[in-house]
Amino acid sequence: MKILISAGPTREAIDPVRFITNHSSGKMGYALALAAVKRGWQVVLVSGPVDLPRPEGLAEFVQVVSAAEMADAVKSRFPAMDGAILCAAVADYRPVTVSNKKIKKSDDDLILHLERTEDILKTLGTMKNAQQILIGFAAETDDLEANALAKLKKKNLDWIAANKVGVPGRGFQADTNAITLYNATGEKIELPLTDKESLAEEMLNRIFPE
Ligand code: C5P
Repeated sequence: MKILISAGPTREAIDPVRFITNHSSGKMGYALALAAVKRGWQVVLVSGPVDLPRPEGLAEFVQVVSAAEMADAVKSRFPAMDGAILCAAVADYRPVTVSNKKIKKSDDDLILHLERTEDILKTLGTMKNAQQILIGFAAETDDLEANALAKLKKKNLDWIAANKVGVPGRGFQADTNAITLYNATGEKIELPLTDKESLAEEMLNRIFPE
């Protein structure tokens, strides 16, 4: 089994010293990579900037910074994979222009013009063949189930792992998480609050029963 996992945030440059990012720690993606290595799988981990040790036993470790770099790294490797789990919190918008000099502050407001980045998961949904398994995440503060099911369909996924964010002990930065798995055939599996390592193993056990 060859699996690609994306993890962590991306950084979108504004100028040489500033960027836009989010609170993703990469812990869930790294835990999934470790769980997949433990199963003896060939694991390609594509990671944004995180403060975590590189998991041992990976087939490949690709470090990226921006959403565009992550898109290139993921799309070029996906055709050789049996599946992909996209866990990264990719920035949805980036500055239209990146100043090559530090933007000087003035007394006026500063307006940044942002454009959409590519939805990497959605692109993989259009690329995938009948044998490939595609799994996404949906981090939501509200209407978890409806949003997760809408994403599952819109992005042509096999499974989606929905997790509430903005709740202590779950999601971004936390060492623990709770998720609900939904698949394209209407199954719903609740995985209760636990550490991200156990949750990652349980997630693989449910999606890929041995
Ligand atoms: O639509 P939303 O961003 O909530 O979807 C989250 C899922 O899509 C996650 O699996 C995330 O890794 C993936 N994603 C992506 N590229 C983006 C935005 C999200 O791969 N630009």
